[in-house]
This record gives sequence, structure tokens and C-alpha cells, in this order.
Amino acid sequence: TAETGSPYRVVLLGANGVGKTAFASIFAGAADNEMCEKVIEVDGESAAVTLLDTWDTEVKEEHIRLDRCMHTGDAYLLLYSITDRASFLRASELRIILRHFRPAQHTPIILVGNKCDLVRRREVSVSEGRACAAVFDCKFIETSAAMQHNVWEAFHGIVRQLRLRRDSK
Ligand code: GDP
Repeated sequence: TAETGSPYRVVLLGANGVGKTAFASIFAGAADNEMCEKVIEVDGESAAVTLLDTWDTEVKEEHIRLDRCMHTGDAYLLLYSITDRASFLRASELRIILRHFRPAQHTPIILVGNKCDLVRRREVSVSEGRACAAVFDCKFIETSAAMQHNVWEAFHGIVRQLRLRRDSK
């Protein structure tokens, strides 16, 4: 394959219940574990990706875990649920924490509004999500892990951004 070397480490970040586990199982396919490495095909080129699923929590001991994720990721999928405004606000906080850990680096981030199948329970509009991503200077996508809608697009999108960054080095 064209890409050699260590796999891209993509971290799933977001409040509890937004769909990180659901994303990880779609990525993993049959093998459903917390840390999964896979070679995926994006734009006709193979990419090795390690997906790290982390739960976000304010509990102190788990801050260590969050800290580690902030340091080890090459790229981040920052998830919220469109049915949960608190998770949208949490995504903003996490973006600020990320920026603090990586002030100068152009770490690829995609803001992901998940559960877009739950139209009648929507609390965060598409335009709010898009506007937030513009402020964060990152890409935006709405997904439904339940319907398997746009989930692979999110994974492919993050690989494309990682390649752009790699190629500009
Ligand atoms: P996590 O805490 O971020 O890992 O969230 P989970 O992946 O465990 O998801 C929390 C709940 O939301 C579970 O009951 C999932 O089945 C459900 N869920 C996850 N993604 C979606 C989605 O896109 N649509 C719907 N309707 N439910 C979802």
C-alpha cells in the first residue's frame, strides 16, 4: 500500500451517550473492542487507523484518561448528539481543552452531530452545528450511527485531513 509507518490514531471524544461506542462498533465491524486498528481504503489508497474510544467524564480519576487522549491522538472526532444540547455545549468545552493541549498544531478535528435520525427530538439545528464548527475551525458532519448514515464519511474525512497535513509537511 502507499501508506506505511505507524497508524493514524483517531480519538472519539464527547459526552456520555452521544454514540461513541456505536461509532467504534461500526468501525470495528465484528470485532467490537475499545481500541481497534484497521486498514481502510480512502480514495483508492490504504490507511492504517487506530480508533480510540474514550468516554468523557468529569470524574477526577478519569481525567487522567482524558489527558492521555488529548496527548496521543493524531486526529479527533468530536461527537455530540443533536438530541442533547448539553452534549453540544460539552463538545465546545472539549474543543477548548484540545486547543489548550495543542495550541500551535493543526490537529484535524471533525465536529460530528450524531443521532440525526431522531428528527423529532432535535435540540441542536444543522446551522448551529455548522456555525460552531466554523468558530472551531473544523469540519462538520451530521451522522446517524443507528442508520449507519455518514459514519464512514466521517472516518474517511478524518483520514483525508490527516493526509493533507502529512503532505504539507
Ligand atoms: P457513548 O456513551 O458515547 O459510547 O454512546 P453509545 O454509543 O453507548 O450510545 C448511547 C445510546 O444512544 C445507545 O442506546 C445507542 O444505541 C444510541 N445511539 C447511538 N447512536 C445513535 C444514533 O445515531 N441514533 C439513535 N437513534 N440512537 C443512537
